[in-house]
Amino acid sequence: MKIAVLPGDGIGSEIIAQALAVLKRLELPLELETAAVGGAGYDASGDPLPEATLKLAREADAILFGAVGGWKYDELPRAKRPEQAILGLRKHLSLFANLRPAQVYAELAGASALRAEVVAGLDILIIRELTGDIYFGQPRGIHKLPDGQREGFDTMRYTESEIRRIAHVGYQAARKRGRKLCSVDKANVLETSQLWRDVVTEVGKEYSDVELSHMYVDNCAMQLVRTPKQFDVIVTGNMFGDILSDEASMLTGSIGMLPSASLDAKNKGLYEPIHGSAPDIAGKDIANPLATILSAAMMLRYSLNQVAAADRIESAVKKVLQDGYRTADIAEAGARKVGTKEMGEAVVACL
Ligand code: NAD
Repeated sequence: MKIAVLPGDGIGSEIIAQALAVLKRLELPLELETAAVGGAGYDASGDPLPEATLKLAREADAILFGAVGGWKYDELPRAKRPEQAILGLRKHLSLFANLRPAQVYAELAGASALRAEVVAGLDILIIRELTGDIYFGQPRGIHKLPDGQREGFDTMRYTESEIRRIAHVGYQAARKRGRKLCSVDKANVLETSQLWRDVVTEVGKEYSDVELSHMYVDNCAMQLVRTPKQFDVIVTGNMFGDILSDEASMLTGSIGMLPSASLDAKNKGLYEPIHGSAPDIAGKDIANPLATILSAAMMLRYSLNQVAAADRIESAVKKVLQDGYRTADIAEAGARKVGTKEMGEAVVACL
């Protein structure tokens, strides 16, 4: 199994180093090859997604990604900005399904902005369609009306096949978890959403073991802060998913803990923490590596079919939290405060 390892910028290399130490400890037949991406790619070859990096990503079975971006690249033209590397990888590799789990470990329930009893034990997965919807629909633009004022417009659109393939991802993920899928739309107002609802329901006939429900997006936004534990897997379109997945991540209160995956139709994927390159703490050995370690676990589960190994990593992370290890971002008063490297070593020791 070949893994393209793309550490990127800022804290990227520090957190990826710990995820690699964890993967190595599992002694699986993994071939790990590293390449530059983002600002590091630009520095090396004048392009945030160098040709050689894209080639490696195409050949690999999965991609483990750190984070990209940094102050020194802020003035570059848009096409050369580090963040273009992620968009380029999504586009070239047809990564259309974004999986964002939001899990609250009992020990960290106090970090949430919500009351601990509302979020303790939370374990939900939001699946967002990534390549369609109003973000890409044509026509779009700003034009002038006959009365002289400007009008902005975008087009929300989804084809049946686009909905069908993300629905399958939703049902299959639900099968690996609690077998409950909630499809989120705005079918009371939008035609696109009516088609979404119809197609998700049709696909459901192939998954009689998964319980399907539908919810309007405004209600879902409310339910996520009211009783988030009612959900197992949520599947939704690009724009609704963009907003709801950020909302859900904040239920946990700690950006350094959350992994993500972006998958293609064959479950090849790019795995990365949801946070950025954190230039403010780069090089200080204080970044939390757990989101990246958990991204590696997702990679084993979803792309490499190594479910037992994924379970082992997730259990080890739970154990180090139970044992009181905390990086600065999740440390409460009196906690056993450790750095990036020591946190990684604690997970490896647990394995
Ligand atoms: P950020 O996620 O990098 O940082 C936000 C805050 O969270 C910072 O205070 C940071 O120190 C903290 N933080 C982030 N990850 C942490 C971790 N693992 N452990 C402890 N603390 C952590 O977001 P930002 O500051 O808005 O962006 C910084 C750069 O990252 C920008 O160039 C931005 O474009 C880029 N970015 C990249 C990605 C990506 O690579 N997928 C995502 C978001 C932002």
